[in-house]
Amino acid sequence: MIDNRSPYFVFVPFCLLAQAYQAKGLVKYEWKSSIKPFIDLLMANDINIIQMPCAESSYKKSLIREPMGLKKYNTDEFNQHCEELANNVFEEIKQIIDNNYKIIAILGIEQSPSCCVNYIYTNHGNERRKGLFIQKLYDKIKDYNIPIIGINRKYINKSLKELESLIKKIKK
Ligand code: SF4
Repeated sequence: MIDNRSPYFVFVPFCLLAQAYQAKGLVKYEWKSSIKPFIDLLMANDINIIQMPCAESSYKKSLIREPMGLKKYNTDEFNQHCEELANNVFEEIKQIIDNNYKIIAILGIEQSPSCCVNYIYTNHGNERRKGLFIQKLYDKIKDYNIPIIGINRKYINKSLKELESLIKKIKK
């Protein structure tokens, strides 16, 4: 039986594919729906795209919300919500690895209180830290050595190149 499936996976934040899930006023750049260069790169290389849940919209049960800082999200309830979502994503990651497929990377969105990887914007400037959801996911997967790349939506080139070079390395 012919089975032509790709064994490669990248996990992406929900809003990379559907920017309508971003908080109000954040979708200012040239792509109205998906952040195309990432999706184009993944599709061109036959990478399976797994859309991780949007912690903020699923917590609010709405796509419409004002942007809020870390302080407002950093509550017991929201952290518990992120913990549940991170557990579900972790289960998917384990299944993929147990089936001998390869996860090339997990992507996050810099400055998001939930999904940033390296830095978050606060009233006192940028703070180096992971977002509430990504931190919980990272704590579960750190032994798997899966690269986590943070996308700066204003200057995507650095993260796009990082992803490109991971794909090249793995497909050699
Ligand atoms: S919580 Fe994450 S997935 Fe949802 S809009 Fe913010 S960055 Fe995107």
